[in-house]
Amino acid sequence: VSAPPPKTVERVVDRVVERVVVRDTSGAPATLACLRCGQSMQTTPVEDASVSPVSQCHSCGGAWVPVDTADFIKRKGTDELRRQIAIGEMLALVKPRRDALACPVCSAPMEQLGMAETVHDVDVCRAHGTWFDRTELAAFIQREKRRRESDDE
Ligand SMILES: [Zn+2]
Ligand SMILES: [Zn+2]
Repeated sequence: VSAPPPKTVERVVDRVVERVVVRDTSGAPATLACLRCGQSMQTTPVEDASVSPVSQCHSCGGAWVPVDTADFIKRKGTDELRRQIAIGEMLALVKPRRDALACPVCSAPMEQLGMAETVHDVDVCRAHGTWFDRTELAAFIQREKRRRESDDE
């Protein structure tokens, strides 16, 4: 028995774009659609299986990082994860508009926050996770690695 094909629902509310892939009638998102371009995203597991995977769009290179996964990256993010994210970014050629985004979990508008020491702005729902556009997640993993190394000195 195969699952019914996913349908994408798009709503635009006050220029906040919200996209989720819905697989059943309850309306709960089963698989995330890219917040930028609507393609279904690939999940990249992290080394600790108790931590949620990263969802990455191979079309535009954006990535959704749940709160627990962002904590994991801060504690011990790895070169292997960074390598996998970088491979996904390399293949991503679509350059979507950077509209304000809604959280894919609670639909609240996300805050745009600057990442210290980089030129990047990321979109954050403090309860659920962070959206990184292409190159931002690899930069974040690298920054956290440098920070841990300087803490060890
Ligand atoms: Zn995308
Ligand atoms: Zn949220």
